[in-house]
Amino acid sequence: MKYTILLIEDNEQNLYLETFLLEQNGFEVFAAKSGPEGIALATKIQLDLILLDIQLPLMDGYAVARELRQNQALKDVPVVAVTSYAMVGDRERVLEAGCNGYIEKPINPDTFKNEIEKYLKPKPVNGGTKS
Ligand code: MN
Repeated sequence: MKYTILLIEDNEQNLYLETFLLEQNGFEVFAAKSGPEGIALATKIQLDLILLDIQLPLMDGYAVARELRQNQALKDVPVVAVTSYAMVGDRERVLEAGCNGYIEKPINPDTFKNEIEKYLKPKPVNGGTKS
Protein backbone atom coordinates (compact mmCIF):
# COMPACT_ATOMS: atom_id res chain seq x y z
CA MET A 1 0.00 0.00 0.00
CA LYS A 2 1.30 3.40 -0.94
CA TYR A 3 1.60 6.26 1.49
CA THR A 4 -0.29 9.35 0.45
CA ILE A 5 1.28 12.70 1.27
CA LEU A 6 -0.04 16.20 0.89
CA LEU A 7 2.50 18.96 0.27
CA ILE A 8 1.43 22.48 1.11
CA GLU A 9 4.19 24.56 -0.45
CA ASP A 10 4.15 27.74 -2.53
CA ASN A 11 7.72 27.61 -3.83
CA GLU A 12 7.95 25.87 -7.23
CA GLN A 13 11.48 24.57 -6.71
CA ASN A 14 10.78 23.13 -3.27
CA LEU A 15 7.56 21.60 -4.54
CA TYR A 16 9.37 20.05 -7.46
CA LEU A 17 12.19 18.62 -5.33
CA GLU A 18 9.90 17.26 -2.60
CA THR A 19 7.52 15.71 -5.15
CA PHE A 20 10.44 14.15 -7.02
CA LEU A 21 11.99 12.63 -3.89
CA LEU A 22 8.67 11.31 -2.60
CA GLU A 23 7.53 9.82 -5.91
CA GLN A 24 10.95 8.25 -6.38
CA ASN A 25 10.39 6.48 -3.07
CA GLY A 26 6.95 5.22 -4.04
CA PHE A 27 4.78 7.78 -2.28
CA GLU A 28 1.63 9.20 -3.80
CA VAL A 29 1.83 12.99 -3.75
CA PHE A 30 -0.81 15.70 -3.79
CA ALA A 31 0.19 19.35 -3.80
CA ALA A 32 -1.40 22.63 -2.80
CA LYS A 33 0.17 26.05 -3.22
CA SER A 34 -1.71 27.81 -0.46
CA GLY A 35 -3.12 27.05 2.97
CA PRO A 36 -6.79 27.27 2.01
CA GLU A 37 -6.19 25.01 -0.99
CA GLY A 38 -4.31 22.54 1.23
CA ILE A 39 -7.01 22.49 3.89
CA ALA A 40 -9.66 21.85 1.23
CA LEU A 41 -7.65 18.97 -0.24
CA ALA A 42 -6.95 17.47 3.19
CA THR A 43 -10.66 17.07 3.82
CA LYS A 44 -11.17 15.20 0.54
CA ILE A 45 -8.25 12.74 0.44
CA GLN A 46 -7.24 9.93 2.79
CA LEU A 47 -3.78 11.09 3.87
CA ASP A 48 -0.88 9.54 5.77
CA LEU A 49 1.04 12.78 6.25
CA ILE A 50 0.90 16.50 5.56
CA LEU A 51 4.13 18.42 4.87
CA LEU A 52 3.50 22.06 5.58
CA ASP A 53 5.57 25.04 4.53
CA ILE A 54 5.44 27.85 7.10
CA GLN A 55 6.00 30.85 4.82
CA LEU A 56 2.88 30.79 2.67
CA PRO A 57 0.75 33.49 1.04
CA LEU A 58 -2.78 34.26 2.31
CA MET A 59 -2.41 32.22 5.47
CA ASP A 60 0.88 31.22 7.13
CA GLY A 61 1.73 27.65 8.10
CA TYR A 62 0.95 28.23 11.78
CA ALA A 63 -2.61 29.25 10.93
CA VAL A 64 -2.94 26.32 8.54
CA ALA A 65 -1.74 23.88 11.23
CA ARG A 66 -4.21 25.29 13.76
CA GLU A 67 -7.07 24.95 11.30
CA LEU A 68 -6.09 21.39 10.33
CA ARG A 69 -5.99 20.49 14.03
CA GLN A 70 -9.56 21.72 14.53
CA ASN A 71 -10.77 19.10 12.08
CA GLN A 72 -11.59 15.89 13.98
CA ALA A 73 -11.37 13.81 10.80
CA LEU A 74 -7.69 14.76 10.50
CA LYS A 75 -6.68 14.20 14.11
CA ASP A 76 -4.58 11.11 13.31
CA VAL A 77 -2.82 12.63 10.30
CA PRO A 78 0.69 13.84 11.22
CA VAL A 79 1.49 17.39 10.17
CA VAL A 80 5.19 18.13 9.72
CA ALA A 81 6.36 21.70 9.20
CA VAL A 82 9.01 22.40 6.59
CA THR A 83 10.67 25.58 7.62
CA SER A 84 13.77 27.64 7.00
CA TYR A 85 13.31 29.36 10.34
CA ALA A 86 15.92 27.44 12.27
CA MET A 87 15.92 29.83 15.17
CA VAL A 88 15.34 28.87 18.79
CA GLY A 89 11.65 29.22 19.62
CA ASP A 90 10.34 28.36 16.19
CA ARG A 91 10.22 24.68 17.04
CA GLU A 92 7.96 25.53 19.98
CA ARG A 93 5.76 27.74 17.79
CA VAL A 94 5.41 24.98 15.23
CA LEU A 95 4.48 22.43 17.90
CA GLU A 96 2.11 24.85 19.63
CA ALA A 97 0.29 25.34 16.34
CA GLY A 98 -0.35 21.59 16.25
CA CYS A 99 2.45 20.20 14.11
CA ASN A 100 3.97 16.87 15.09
CA GLY A 101 7.47 18.00 14.22
CA TYR A 102 9.51 19.83 11.66
CA ILE A 103 12.03 19.40 8.89
CA GLU A 104 14.51 22.13 8.10
CA LYS A 105 15.00 23.74 4.72
CA PRO A 106 16.92 23.45 2.54
CA ILE A 107 15.66 19.91 1.94
CA ASN A 108 18.48 17.38 2.12
CA PRO A 109 17.78 14.77 -0.60
CA ASP A 110 19.89 12.19 1.24
CA THR A 111 17.97 12.33 4.51
CA PHE A 112 14.50 13.53 3.41
CA LYS A 113 12.92 10.08 3.13
CA ASN A 114 14.22 8.98 6.54
CA GLU A 115 12.99 12.17 8.16
CA ILE A 116 9.54 11.67 6.66
CA GLU A 117 9.35 8.02 7.65
CA LYS A 118 9.67 8.86 11.34
CA TYR A 119 6.15 10.23 11.17
CA LEU A 120 4.50 7.45 9.16
CA LYS A 121 2.65 4.56 10.70
CA PRO A 122 3.69 1.14 9.41
CA LYS A 123 1.40 -0.36 6.81
CA PRO A 124 0.84 -4.07 6.31
CA VAL A 125 3.08 -5.34 3.52
CA ASN A 126 0.37 -7.45 1.93
CA GLY A 127 -2.57 -5.53 3.26
CA GLY A 128 -4.00 -4.51 -0.08
CA THR A 129 -6.37 -6.48 -2.24
CA LYS A 130 -4.75 -8.75 -4.76
CA SER A 131 -5.64 -8.31 -8.38
MN1 MN B 1 6.97 29.25 1.16
